[in-house]
Amino acid sequence: MKTNELIEQSSKYLCNTYNRYPIVFSKGKGCKLWDVEGKEYLDFVAGLAVVNLGHCHPNVVNAIKEQAERLIHVSNYYHNEPMIELARLLCENSFAEKVFFCNSGAEANEAAIKLARKYAKENLGPEKFEIITMLKSFHGRTMATITATGQERFHKGFEPLLEGFKYVPYNDLEAVKNAISEKTCAIMLEPIQGEGGVNIPSKEYVQGLRRLCDEKGTLLIFDEVQTGIGRTGKLFAYEHFGIEPDIMTLAKGLANGVPIGAMLTKDKFAGTFVPGAHASTFGGNPLAAAAAIAVLQTFNREGAVKKEIKEVCPSCISTVRNIQKEDILRNCNIVGGYLINRLKELKTGFDFIKDVRGMGLLIGMELTFDAGDIVKKCMERGILINYTNGNILRFIPPLIVTEDEVDILINTLSDIFMGIRK
Ligand SMILES: *Cc1c(COP(=O)(O)O)cnc(C)c1O
Repeated sequence: MKTNELIEQSSKYLCNTYNRYPIVFSKGKGCKLWDVEGKEYLDFVAGLAVVNLGHCHPNVVNAIKEQAERLIHVSNYYHNEPMIELARLLCENSFAEKVFFCNSGAEANEAAIKLARKYAKENLGPEKFEIITMLKSFHGRTMATITATGQERFHKGFEPLLEGFKYVPYNDLEAVKNAISEKTCAIMLEPIQGEGGVNIPSKEYVQGLRRLCDEKGTLLIFDEVQTGIGRTGKLFAYEHFGIEPDIMTLAKGLANGVPIGAMLTKDKFAGTFVPGAHASTFGGNPLAAAAAIAVLQTFNREGAVKKEIKEVCPSCISTVRNIQKEDILRNCNIVGGYLINRLKELKTGFDFIKDVRGMGLLIGMELTFDAGDIVKKCMERGILINYTNGNILRFIPPLIVTEDEVDILINTLSDIFMGIRK
């Protein structure tokens, strides 16, 4: 079917929840995508910071193929090998000691919220249920996670929201100090706000939050759904700040496009999730777990994944033996630095560019006007970029992107900016 027919069918049969661009994609490889007409695109969206290793990375494709032929699903009444292996890898490469698996970022945050509330109720007092979150945050689209999200536009029409959430400005320690009370059980934030406009907090702020939580017996929850799995140049963004959260959530980049979510925490807090307390039918699904194992194993040891894989997972071993390691973090830092410098160069030439900021390959460019047109113009020229909060262009390519590919983006942007300079 041709694009037009497909789009007609799409609007006939799908809920109209997205303002989709009129492209139907059918193939991807590395940083490239092809639509059904065969037109090629350079992808600086990466499925919204999901395909961190690039489209159809052979390690992930092989892991999925092998696992699909062996076992796709069993119930959580039983164990399965990839789930155990993935949990071990995540714990051995982070602050965490326990993992709960689910299927999306919102669900991982839902688990974090439930764990924090139950832990506080059982250990800190029955009145401790309030969670402080940040303005301009984004935590997902379930009822609890839209409530946690500090942006009214996500709340509209769905009220009444969940009780017990309080919003404060991001990167403002005083505001948190003033908001914290006897009722507070947790502070929840993204270590870098993605959807809210690529907002980067100071090290002092994040360390201040950690100290405040320690003093008050409050849990610190990091939503690393977007920042996790190498996106900011470290395996997890909390590593930039010299502190550890009590709970961390992951999803987007974890299985390079296969749906998965994870809530990671310490034994101390995990103990509150007793049998029956929380569950997910698909959580820890062997197919998704096998893909995520392949993702973590692809990161070069020097960069991130420190521990050798053990023989606990014979079904994973065959996959792992064939894994081609790559310096994902190194490339992310080098090319991320290059991209941010080239964007800053552009800024000196166009006064409608207000700011360029980012970490690793999570980079934003703030304009003085709505960025929607720029995104469309790039798309017409075969480059996919994204914008958020109206006027902020967001660059979140696969972490394997090259400097040559960055040059193509910069030349195109420069050309488009020339055309709109008044
Ligand atoms: C994308 C995102 C979510 C929501 O993830 P879903 O998988 O869409 O539920 C939550 N938090 C952050 C920081 C995100 O970027």
